[in-house]
Amino acid sequence: MAVIINGKAIAADIRNDIKQGVDELIKAGRRPPYLAVVLVGDDPASASYVQGKQKAAHEVGIQSDTRTYPDSITQADLVNVVHRLNDDSEVDGILVQLPLPDHIEYQRVIEAINPDKDVDCFHPENVGKLMLGLPGFKPATPAGIVELIKRSGIDIAGKRVVIIGRSNIVGKPLASLLIQKGVDATVTVCHSRTQNLPDITRRADILVAALGRAEFVTADMVKKGAAVIDVGINRVDDATKERGYRLVGDVKFDEVAEKASFITPVPGGVGPMTIALMLQNTLVAAQ
Ligand code: NAD
Repeated sequence: MAVIINGKAIAADIRNDIKQGVDELIKAGRRPPYLAVVLVGDDPASASYVQGKQKAAHEVGIQSDTRTYPDSITQADLVNVVHRLNDDSEVDGILVQLPLPDHIEYQRVIEAINPDKDVDCFHPENVGKLMLGLPGFKPATPAGIVELIKRSGIDIAGKRVVIIGRSNIVGKPLASLLIQKGVDATVTVCHSRTQNLPDITRRADILVAALGRAEFVTADMVKKGAAVIDVGINRVDDATKERGYRLVGDVKFDEVAEKASFITPVPGGVGPMTIALMLQNTLVAAQ
């Protein structure tokens, strides 16, 4: 049976370190870091993510407010909102909650953010720095995954990591982080057009599932003793739950846990790490 990685506890340790960093800033006479969150529309999932981020920010001493705009906001107006936050010297970090409505090109909005305030690390300048291994913000979910692996005592150097999913927010930046000198993994990135996926995943020492398909990864796709990191967050109907659904990952937890050496649960694995690393970026922005 695999060791179940406690993402909640590891994220709590990181948040403690962030709190200390914030306290030191304040002792040195600086105002607390300030994170501005921009939320468009009334999608309940987005609203609940934003609430979670704000609560976590306040707990570590980071001030944060959400500016909420209707679905009907134009792209130009949203870009202006971002420009105003760029110009506001009280704002250290800017976070635009995704997804945005279809009529808004999200890339235009991300590119409007001052790269020094881009705590999600989505701006092309920051993505470029990440690729080049230059200092700067780290993308929250991928950096959270690397921290989870390291802090669980799993060797990465020289190991074969297979990532399922090539998105700009998880798969691609995670591959960048893992191949940097000092991390030293050998990485394969798979996607929806990959042929013979199970043949590839079965060779992984560390398998990362980030495709957004409920319980897609089954035990026969995993090598015995592999470490399995489940990034997926999927809602499946469940009449026994008050809210009518439950959250599951991209990995069939029970059967894969029998075969793996380490596994992350959903919820309580990668999710809490994402928030912690975004807060770390906000502290870095303030510093
Ligand atoms: P996405 O939809 O942008 O990308 C999915 C990727 O999976 C694509 O590259 C696609 O090619 C690949 N894919 C889809 N079906 C596949 C298949 N059958 N075989 C192989 N590859 C396949 O998704 P995303 O934004 O990267 O998110 C992925 C999952 O991670 C979602 O469930 C999302 O909710 C979750 N997520 C969690 C966190 C967190 O903090 N825990 C953060 C971001 C995303």
